[in-house]
Amino acid sequence: MTRPVRQTRRVPGDRIAAVFEGSHGPRPAGGLSPLCRALYADQTRSWPALARAEAELAGIRVRDLSSDGWSLKVQYNPARLKSGTARVDPASIAARPCFLCPAALPPEQRGILYREEYLILCNPAPIFPAHFTIASLAHEPQAIEARLEAFLDLARDLGDGMTLFYNGPACGASAPDHLHFQAAPAGAIPIEKDLAGRFDARPAWGNNGVDRWGLVSWGRTLILIRGRERTPLAHAMRRLIAGGGTSPGSPDEAMLNLLAGHRRGEWRLCLFPRRRHRPAAYDRPDPERLLVSPGAVDMGGLIVAPREREFTRLNAPMLRNIYQEVSSPPRADLLARE
Ligand SMILES: [Zn+2]
Repeated sequence: MTRPVRQTRRVPGDRIAAVFEGSHGPRPAGGLSPLCRALYADQTRSWPALARAEAELAGIRVRDLSSDGWSLKVQYNPARLKSGTARVDPASIAARPCFLCPAALPPEQRGILYREEYLILCNPAPIFPAHFTIASLAHEPQAIEARLEAFLDLARDLGDGMTLFYNGPACGASAPDHLHFQAAPAGAIPIEKDLAGRFDARPAWGNNGVDRWGLVSWGRTLILIRGRERTPLAHAMRRLIAGGGTSPGSPDEAMLNLLAGHRRGEWRLCLFPRRRHRPAAYDRPDPERLLVSPGAVDMGGLIVAPREREFTRLNAPMLRNIYQEVSSPPRADLLARE
């Protein structure tokens, strides 16, 4: 890739494969997505571990458990064992080096410097082909409320070919100490297709150009939000999160997962309010143990099973029980027409 490279205060210049400055500087032709695709192609050539992971992903087994009109899949992905069993208590976090800080990245890893605040990186344990992690340049806790505008900007800059997602620090993030988002090719998360038509329906609630729906799907509580203007959308999201649209009870941050796409000039968001990090059976000894650690992708209908045991054992009713266990119960005021 022949892109401008420069030294910044917080990330060495040799880590930077490309720069995206947004409204503050020249926009690369085609926007951010072509830069991401070029980065992925470049890194699969220059980083053997990513090339191996990509090859393994191509041969991965998937079971289809779709039920009742909802798309549900289980993916057997042993490479996710590390993140699926990551200990996220403060003592464990403090005892390990942070794998998202620029200084600790593998030597071959390079990224796109995004708006001088984030580094867009190829995920070395991918769930999809072209799976990106967007890490803050600063080592700061995983928290969405102060970064909603940045999250929305990034979803828009990625465009209609990609979907951005976020896992709360107690809802699937394996690095709760380092702010990060992730991105997938659009449509790779099964619920995206299930929900596409619902975003065109009459909203249950609308104000200031922001529309909202609440629903329960296969045991999951979902809140769909749509809007064309960033500021009222971010305000509505903050009110929703602060007002208990997500579960109370997390000591640090709202318990939620978030999917975001920017389609046909508007943001389309799907929020999963959560009450548990992992199902109770996660902590049981084998053979009762259920090693699934739901994040946004899993809540979106693609369950990542790092062990063959869960891959072969999971069925649609078990999935519904897991979803019910980790989702916040549906709130009547979010589901009803207002
Ligand atoms: Zn860090």
